Order: sequence, then C-alpha cells, then structure tokens
Amino acid sequence: MIAQTKSAYAVDERGFYGRFGGAYIPELLYPNVEELQKNYLSIIESPDFQQEWRALLRDYVGRPTPLYFARRLSERYGVKIYLKREDLNHTGAHKINNTVGQILLAQRLGKKRIIAETGAGQHGVATATVCALMGMQCVVYMGAVDMERQKPNVERMRMLGAEVRPALSGSRTLKDATNEAIRDWINHPTDTHYIIGSVVGPHPYPDMVARLQAIISEEIRKQLQEKEGRAYPDYVVACVGGGSNAAGAFYHFLDLPQVQLVAVEAAGKGIDSGETAATIARGRIGILHGCKTLLMQTADGQVVEPYSISAGLDYPGIGPLHAHLHDTGRARFLAATDDEAMEAALELSRLEGIIPAIESAHALAALKKMTFEAGEVVVVSLSGRGDKDLATYIRYFGERA
Ligand SMILES: *Cc1c(COP(=O)(O)O)cnc(C)c1O
Repeated sequence: MIAQTKSAYAVDERGFYGRFGGAYIPELLYPNVEELQKNYLSIIESPDFQQEWRALLRDYVGRPTPLYFARRLSERYGVKIYLKREDLNHTGAHKINNTVGQILLAQRLGKKRIIAETGAGQHGVATATVCALMGMQCVVYMGAVDMERQKPNVERMRMLGAEVRPALSGSRTLKDATNEAIRDWINHPTDTHYIIGSVVGPHPYPDMVARLQAIISEEIRKQLQEKEGRAYPDYVVACVGGGSNAAGAFYHFLDLPQVQLVAVEAAGKGIDSGETAATIARGRIGILHGCKTLLMQTADGQVVEPYSISAGLDYPGIGPLHAHLHDTGRARFLAATDDEAMEAALELSRLEGIIPAIESAHALAALKKMTFEAGEVVVVSLSGRGDKDLATYIRYFGERA
C-alpha cells in the first residue's frame, strides 16, 4: 500500500523536499497545477483508483515483476545480488507504472486529452500506449533533432495512434519539447492532462510519480521477505536520470536507515570532461521545469546540454527528492561513465543471459565501485531492457560482441 506514516523524506505541504522542489510556474499555469495539487492524493489513495490501477498493473503491465537472484553475477561480486526485473514490464521499462497511474487520474479529473514531452522517446511510447488503451487523444512533443535520432520510437508512437509534434525552436531537443508542451497546456486549461515521465517538474509531479513508482519497492519488500526472510536488503542500487525508477526502488526503504541507498548518475565521458549528465557531481541550485533543484548550468545560469551514451539519462537536472537525499546524506551518489556502463551491460549479458537497457547498465556498473561483506543482500533496479539499445551496443563493441 501507499506509505501510511509520514516519512522524514516526504514532500511538505508547499511541495518541498528540504530546500528543493516547489512549483515555479507561469501564472497562466496556476489553474492546471492547482487542480492537480488539490486532487492527486485523494484520487491516488481512493479504493476505486487503487483497485483499477493494481488490476491493470497485474493484467496489462505484467506485475509483480520478478525479483531474480542473479547467481553468476553474485559469485562474481561475492555478495547476493537480486535484480528487480522492471525490464519485463509491458513496453520494456518502469515508465509504464507511472503512465498507467496518471491516465487513470486524468480520467477521474474528467480530462479528454493527454499531452507529454519526450527526449529519447521512451516516455512518449509509454504515454501513447496508455492513451491507446483508454481511447484518449494523445499529443507528444519531441525535439526535431531527437525525432531524427530516435526514429523507431517515433514510429511506435504513431503506430499507437499518437500525434508526434516536432519542437523546432532552440536546440530542438528535450527542453524545447518541454516548452511546447507547457504552451499547449496553457492553451488547454480544462480538457488536457500533462503526463510528466519522471520525478521532476512542479509540485505535485515529483511526489505523484514517486508514489506511482513506489510499487517497485512495495514488491521488493514482499519478495525479499519470501526469499530472504527479511523485508529489506542491505543495498538498493538504481540509475538516475530524472530519478523515477530510483525513487520507486527507494521509496519504502527511505525511513529504514539500515538500507543503504545508492543512486548512479551517468558520467558520460567523465564528470570533468564537459560531456556528462552527472547533475549531483556537477550541478548547482537553480530552477528547471518548474522546480528548484540541482542542475547543470553555466556561470550565468544557462542550462548546459547534458551528454550520456544513454538517451534516457541525458537530463540536465535531477528530481528534488534526490537532491534532498544527497543534501541529507541519506543516499550515496555515484557516477558511471559510458565505458563502465557498456562493460557492465556486456557482463550481465554474458553472466545471466539478460541484455539490460544502457540506463540500467549504469546501476550495474556501480557494483565495481562498492565493497561488500559476505552474505549482504543487494537489490539492483533493472529499469529496462536492452532491445532498444542494440544498435548502440553493436556500434560500440563492433567485433567483440
Ligand atoms: C527513462 C529511463 C530511465 C531514466 O529515468 P528515471 O526517471 O531516472 O528512472 C532509466 N532506465 C530506463 C530503462 C529508462 O527508460
């Protein structure tokens, strides 16, 4: 169930996690965002929502996802490693947990139309999927450059009946698509819901998305109780772009200090290379997408284009919950380079017969940077599968793979 007791790491009434969060939005967006702020909790916690959401997670998404004991990987690292198999979800990643939840919320708010923005296209596909499922109109904004780079996802969205609108301004990537989506929402204040894909954006999105992804740690607790006789691991490790799979995997362990939380950012070519997406390592406080958080910016406050070989981790900011977990020392933040992630992906493929998403491979790469005691239990969030990344793997490994 949704957490019953107030967590020390829960969002406050004003939408803040410590000094991060809030809702820094243009006045024209107040009605849309206030409607959500007023209603999201009562809807998400209602028995009617919970019943429909959980039935869809079971029958449509394929939950609970297995908690798989990775025997050969465990032998390699001398510790018990379990993989939380979000890669086995319908559409291949954890993102669908959130989009199924938000479309049910949109229906309960009487919305007829869904908009979203997408960078790599994964969130766009997860959104187009639930819109088809519910027969709702779907418009996805995507930078024209990203549409060229991520053609298969554009085709998937179109196959599912969504309209993909190119963002033609600026660098024609994610932030321009976000601006277009916000403009659309301002122009459609009553009939449209904006589905944000990670624990980012103005309050209540970070909290709402974290609660919808918290199904991941809810299941881990039950599954570990069955397999290990205790409902918590010693470590939970997850990659962080905006931070939604990590937030979901951490959620029910936030107030258990015996569980060490490890978040892994994409270092790209190295945190000092100028080509990185490691926001905790490189970011400073600022406002991004309606939220006060850490972000990568120039001395005069221009957002820096992030870089990672993994399109899904290529985000210049980080969710405010994670910025707070870093501030308080509750979570440890590591960074894995492109090369480290690619090696970890090959290792998992060869040891376990599982080809991970490159995003998830960043979490696996952290295992080499950690030290363990015998008998400890590590859960790694395997956020997605690698089918979408095959072309990148082949290009990178050439003859070797
Ligand atoms: C989008 C994506 C991520 C990054 O998003 P978070 O919100 O940080 O979880 C990680 N893994 C996969 C497979 C993704 O598709």
